[in-house]
Amino acid sequence: TSKSFLSLPLQAKMSRPVQARRLEGVDKNIWVEFVKLAATYSKVNLGQGFPDFPAPDFLREAFTRALSGENHMLHQYTRAFGHPPLVKVLAQLFGKLLGRDLDPMTNVMVTVGAYQALFCCFQAFVDEGDEVIIIEPFFDCYESMVKMAGGTPVFIPLRLKAPKDGKLMSSADWQLDPAELASKFSERTKAIVLNSPNNPLGKVFSRGELELIADLCVKHDVLCISDEVYEWLVYDGKEHIRIASLQGMWDRTVIIGSAGKTFSVTGWKVGWTVGPDRLLQHLRTVHQNSVYHCATIAQEAVAQGFQRELMLYGKPDSYFVQLSKELQQKRDWLVQSLEAVGMKPIVPEGTYFLVADISEFKSDVPDVPSSDEPYDNRFAKWMVKNKGLAAIPLSAFYSKAHKNNYNNFIRFCFAKEEATLKAANEILQKWKKEKTSS
Ligand code: PMP
Repeated sequence: TSKSFLSLPLQAKMSRPVQARRLEGVDKNIWVEFVKLAATYSKVNLGQGFPDFPAPDFLREAFTRALSGENHMLHQYTRAFGHPPLVKVLAQLFGKLLGRDLDPMTNVMVTVGAYQALFCCFQAFVDEGDEVIIIEPFFDCYESMVKMAGGTPVFIPLRLKAPKDGKLMSSADWQLDPAELASKFSERTKAIVLNSPNNPLGKVFSRGELELIADLCVKHDVLCISDEVYEWLVYDGKEHIRIASLQGMWDRTVIIGSAGKTFSVTGWKVGWTVGPDRLLQHLRTVHQNSVYHCATIAQEAVAQGFQRELMLYGKPDSYFVQLSKELQQKRDWLVQSLEAVGMKPIVPEGTYFLVADISEFKSDVPDVPSSDEPYDNRFAKWMVKNKGLAAIPLSAFYSKAHKNNYNNFIRFCFAKEEATLKAANEILQKWKKEKTSS
C-alpha cells in the first residue's frame, strides 16, 4: 500500500551510480545521433549503410515459404549456434573459398548480425590490459567493444598518398606504413581487427598488405578478427583476399560475415563467424551466455539463398556477381555527381560507401575554431538540415586523438535506387549553382 511505501527508510533510494564501470566512455554513439537527424531532416538519405532497393526475389520467396510453409517448427528455436541448414551451407561455401574441409558444427557459428559476431570476439578474447590494434578509419563499434571488454585499443591510421597528377583519389591511395604498423605490436597485443573491404573508405587490402599484417600476427602470436561483411562488394575486377587463407593465419583468424550486406537484407540481422574450433569454442561460450538463439526463419531463408549462390557460383546469374555489377554502376554515378560539383570523391574499390572531400564547400559552413566538434561533423549536420542530404562525417571513424586530422571528408552510401542517387545529384547541382551565383 502507499502507506508502507512512504514508511520505507530513506536509504532505499539509490544514490550511487547505477551503471557499471565498463560503460564509461562508450555511451555516445554517432549512429543514434545521425540516424535521428536523417529521419528528421533528410530528403535524400545517403547516410547509414543500407540499400533502399528491394532484396532479391529468391530470398524474399524463401522467407515467405519458411514463414507460411508446412514446417511449423521453423517458428520455434533452432540450434543455438546456428540453424543446421545455414551452418552446413556456410561450411560448404567457405570450405571452397578457403580450400579446407570445414565442420559446420564447430567451424561456423551464426550470430545476430555481424555486430554480435564482433561483440562475441571481443568478449571471448580480450582481457583487462590486453591491447587490440585497430586500423583507422574503422567501423566505430570496434573501439567501444574493446573498451567494454576491458581492453585498450591501439590505433594505426591508413596514410593518404597523394594520387598521381590529374587522377582521382582512390581508396588504394590509403596505405599502412609498414614500420609504423610493426611498432604497434608488442607482448600486450592480443588481436588486430582487419576490415577489408573497409568501411568507410572502400579500401580492398592487397595481398602484400595482408601478408604484412599476417607476418606480424604470426611473429607476435596475435589473433586476427577479420570483418569481411563487404566481401562480395568489390569492383573493377579486384579480388577480395581472405587473410585466413595466408600462411599461419587460419588458426588465429575469425572471419565475420553478414547476410545483411551479402543479400541486401540488413534488417534480418543474420551474421556468422567462420574459424578454427579452438577460437570458435570461446565464441560459443559468449553466445550461449548472451543471445543463445538467433531467429530461425531468417536463417532458413539465408540458407536457401546461399544454396542458390553455391550452385551459381561465379556464373553471371549469381546475385553476388549481379549485385557488385549494379553497385559499381551506382558508384560511378555518384563519383560523377560529386566530381561535377567539386566535392572530390575517393573512388572506392569495394563496399557501398564513398568518401568525398568537402574542402570546396567549406565557405558555406562556418567553422568554429574553438569548438571540440570536428569540422566534418558540423558540416554533415548543416548539410542535412539545410540541404536535406544526409551523409556521415569521416571523423566518426577515427579515435578521439586523430579525429581532427581527418575532418575534411564525409561518407556517402550509394546502395540506393537510381531515383535516390538522381535526387542527391539534383541537390548537389542546385547547391553548386547557388554557390557560384552568390
Ligand atoms: N562490420 C562492418 C564493417 C559494418 O559496416 C557493419 C554494418 N554497418 C557491421 C559490421 C554490422 O553488420 P550487421 O548489420 O550484420 O550486424
